[in-house]
Amino acid sequence: MQNSPISKIDLDGRSFYVKRDDLIDKYLAGNKYRKLYTLLQTPSDSLNKIISYGGTQSNAMLAIAAMCKSKGWEFIYYSKPISKLQREENLGNYFHSLELEMQHVEIEHELYRDFIASLRVNLDDRTFLIDQGGAVEQAREGLRVLAEEIRASELDVKSLATPSGTGTTALFLALALPEYKIYTTPCVGDVVYLKEQMSALHTIPNNLVILEPEKKYHFAKPYLEFLEIQKKLLDAGIEFDLLYAPGMWKALLEQMNEEIMYIHSGGVTGNESMLARYKQKGLKF
Ligand SMILES: *Cc1c(COP(=O)(O)O)cnc(C)c1O
Repeated sequence: MQNSPISKIDLDGRSFYVKRDDLIDKYLAGNKYRKLYTLLQTPSDSLNKIISYGGTQSNAMLAIAAMCKSKGWEFIYYSKPISKLQREENLGNYFHSLELEMQHVEIEHELYRDFIASLRVNLDDRTFLIDQGGAVEQAREGLRVLAEEIRASELDVKSLATPSGTGTTALFLALALPEYKIYTTPCVGDVVYLKEQMSALHTIPNNLVILEPEKKYHFAKPYLEFLEIQKKLLDAGIEFDLLYAPGMWKALLEQMNEEIMYIHSGGVTGNESMLARYKQKGLKF
């Protein structure tokens, strides 16, 4: 794999570098590619099955499905029951994952928690369990590789930004690049929740700066201002995801004016189903 390229865009009269991890692959891209890096380096014949679980719009699910397809591994994905609407949708991450031969199993709400807990008990040595969001120590190596690519670019920029769900990406990137400042913002839950998630993995280093959103946004809900930012970004020449990127860009534009390299975290394949939900709410470009 070659280093992902770096683009430059203009936004609100400022210029930003963008590390194009979105261009790594159609489905297996962004921070999910980085987080799965160790598994991607694993020889195909050392495993035969991957198990994971979580939401059915998830970018991680699609990335794992693409990895398993290329490795020839079986992929079993557990979720809570899904709607008829989603089952029949012919776009979005769920649809594409099924196309990549993901085997989807729905677990009743009442049983879900215990069922997921039981998964790790009966694993054989050719089956690997990936926890939700891929928030695992495993992810560290892939982010170290990303850090090396950033250093090797030799650009005169010392501040990076990437949005957070679990915070795994921002945290491991900050640990691998102590000479850079890493900005992030919580897109799932608030700052307190994000710090808890990160602290469970490692002490939060001083070069990691968490920007607090000026308004509370609920994850995966449509917001007019997110669509407006998306439009500006598209006009500037790059498509970003609609779940995480708008919150990060908003915080960068509103709260600071340093020169930044934005690490594209991927996830644009989720946009088609997300835009359909925007449209249902009467919001469109
Ligand atoms: C998963 C994801 C994130 C969040 O990554 P974490 O490591 O959990 O913080 C951010 N952006 C996109 C597009 C994602 O798919």
